[in-house]
Amino acid sequence: MADFEVVPLRAFSDNYIWTIRDAGHAAVVDPGDAAPVIDYLAREKLTLVAILNTHHHADHVGGNAALLARTRVPVFGPHDDRIPEVTERLADGQRFMLPHFNIEMETLEIPGHTRSHIAFHGGGMLFCGDTLFAAGCGRLFEGTPRQMHDSLTRLARLPDDTRVYCGHEYTLANIKFARAAEPGNGRLLELEQQAQALRAQDQPTLPSTIAQEKATNPFLRVTEPAIIDSASARAAKKLFDPVSVLAEIRDWKNNF
Ligand code: ZN
Ligand code: FE
Repeated sequence: MADFEVVPLRAFSDNYIWTIRDAGHAAVVDPGDAAPVIDYLAREKLTLVAILNTHHHADHVGGNAALLARTRVPVFGPHDDRIPEVTERLADGQRFMLPHFNIEMETLEIPGHTRSHIAFHGGGMLFCGDTLFAAGCGRLFEGTPRQMHDSLTRLARLPDDTRVYCGHEYTLANIKFARAAEPGNGRLLELEQQAQALRAQDQPTLPSTIAQEKATNPFLRVTEPAIIDSASARAAKKLFDPVSVLAEIRDWKNNF
């Protein structure tokens, strides 16, 4: 199989800087803070070969400048001037080879959390920033419920075994909400037990998979009768379309 591994570097309280590495090189996704990356590269004697940015928020790009000051590497990211360090601006469907690693990445434009949010898909992996989380989705800071629904629907069509590398460790809180939104979903109970065991050992609950998200994530399950019913109950009117259901449960989660 692949001669690389993906390592989570922790930043701030709950961010992950996903690091694709082999024996001598590394590429980092969403380095919100340079310090953990610099420490890791030094400790493991790795050379940085690329930075990937999913969206412009500081907790995802804040470390770009300090990393580039030490090593000039290509920065792959969206068409958005709010990330001035990006050297390779990517549009939907655009493919590129991850430098050094023989991994072809495809760009997916997935607006919703922010308007220019992108994901990187390749090598059986999805780096989806703050759009899709394990059992949850990002807040709608710049996008509409329809955009988020379309973005999540696209991600859900990726192969079931795609490993999903999310930007934050939000899984337990998301499961708590998901259980309220879909009380009859037994998979959520199983997942909660797994996640609790991992967190008790201070281990990440990620990556998830697309199959797991389709089975447990309420924001991917907006056509399930149980989710429609609980969203309708909260809205105090019958909701019919998936976008309205998503909007309602997103608002519910914001206030949960
Ligand atoms: Zn964000
Ligand atoms: Fe974030």
